[in-house]
Amino acid sequence: MKRDEALHKTEQIICNDRENQYGSPEQSHTDIAALWTTYLNSKYKQHITLTATDAALMMILFKMARTFNGNTEDTYLDMVGYAAISAELASSKNELPCLHQWQHVSTERKPDGVTTMTSKCMRCGKIATDSLNDKPIET
Ligand SMILES: [Zn+2]
Repeated sequence: MKRDEALHKTEQIICNDRENQYGSPEQSHTDIAALWTTYLNSKYKQHITLTATDAALMMILFKMARTFNGNTEDTYLDMVGYAAISAELASSKNELPCLHQWQHVSTERKPDGVTTMTSKCMRCGKIATDSLNDKPIET
């Protein structure tokens, strides 16, 4: 199977067949995450919270384990589908890390020789500072 064929087949499966059969992937993975969270916390006395994205990613692991004992085309298509669902869930829930795009905001030089430069990410608004001591080191 060619990769474009795998993508097209997977699109048909996850955007039509499975959605009609099981409802929205967001709701089903939210439900799976809630059940797995309850199971893990009850069994192992932990306080974790799995997200819908975690559930979708862990379904890829489940499918990957299946490849260890026999490969079927469907297993790979399922992994492609869960990857697409994971990407959609992560981006819709702001779980993707920002690829910061820094813009210089200000530079402040103090009498002790320390210069502090402040930058702001134009995507997420995070502020970062970097200090430089430009006072000569006495030897
Ligand atoms: Zn950012």
